[in-house]
Amino acid sequence: MKTPFSVLLLASVLCFGPALAIITKNNWSYAGAGDTDQEFWKDIDGSFCDGSSQSPINIVTKWTREIERAPFNLQSYDTTIDATVENNGHALEIEVSKMPGEGHYDVTGGGLSGTFRAVQFHFHFGSNSMQGSEHTIDGERYPAEMHIVHYDTAYSSVSEAVKNKGGIAVLGFFLEVDDDDNSALDIILDQASNLMRPHTHQEMAGFTLSNLLPSSLDKFWRYDGSLTTPLCNEVVTWTLFEDTIKISNNQLNITRTLMSDAIDEAGYEMPMENNFRDIQSRGIRTIYAVTADDDYGMSPTPTASAGKSAPGAMIVLDAFLVAMALRF
Ligand SMILES: [Zn+2]
Repeated sequence: MKTPFSVLLLASVLCFGPALAIITKNNWSYAGAGDTDQEFWKDIDGSFCDGSSQSPINIVTKWTREIERAPFNLQSYDTTIDATVENNGHALEIEVSKMPGEGHYDVTGGGLSGTFRAVQFHFHFGSNSMQGSEHTIDGERYPAEMHIVHYDTAYSSVSEAVKNKGGIAVLGFFLEVDDDDNSALDIILDQASNLMRPHTHQEMAGFTLSNLLPSSLDKFWRYDGSLTTPLCNEVVTWTLFEDTIKISNNQLNITRTLMSDAIDEAGYEMPMENNFRDIQSRGIRTIYAVTADDDYGMSPTPTASAGKSAPGAMIVLDAFLVAMALRF
């Protein structure tokens, strides 16, 4: 009786084993077993991960194009809210879409083409401080990278925006090791001990997003790319700030206690650390090195939307009068 049962068991493994290995939008991993790692993301139904405008990329600073744009205008980022912190199996993520009243974390300016609303932010980090960020600058990795994900309010929701090129704007920040703890990160990391298990969440009261941001948002890189997780939709206007958020090694060690939902070849659960995607080809894309300028768009240029500036308006009026004179 023993042998037939074993044969039956073997037969069932052979029949169902391959089906379990198929990668889906729910079981992808960074380096897990069973054909779920990055190499297979392109095989997920509806995936864009094999496209030509993917993220992250290495930014080669000497190849960037220098331009000026208006400064970022952050609306309500200094509002204190109750947020939800989640171990989503791939990253430590903070939902920030719930705000009392009619308020939202909205961003305009910075060369963005409308109003973009924050829905969540999350962290990519490494198993040691030599790695962790998704983007690299001249080949160098930072120990972590924070992404604030916004959608264009021209769309009704983030799920609509993600179907349209330019529908998503991610503000990306590199984290850099500092001797001292960053007290603005403590409120998030204090939750981590309750979030070691994947797919768990905690409520976090009294959170203020602006406390996390570096002092200057006036220098940044800009390019068009993709989500860095499946389905890798090529809809993201990327902003990567030059000024960094500081974090201590003690604080980085707390992130390294989190577990992911991936399983390794030996069948063990894997830690969340090293949740960064491989560098993708830049292809023919232009990377801009942007400096924010308070006067951007205020001086008379042929392409400026002249209505905002008196000198520009006068030039348009002059041109109109000249044209009228020539015509009549
Ligand atoms: Zn991210």
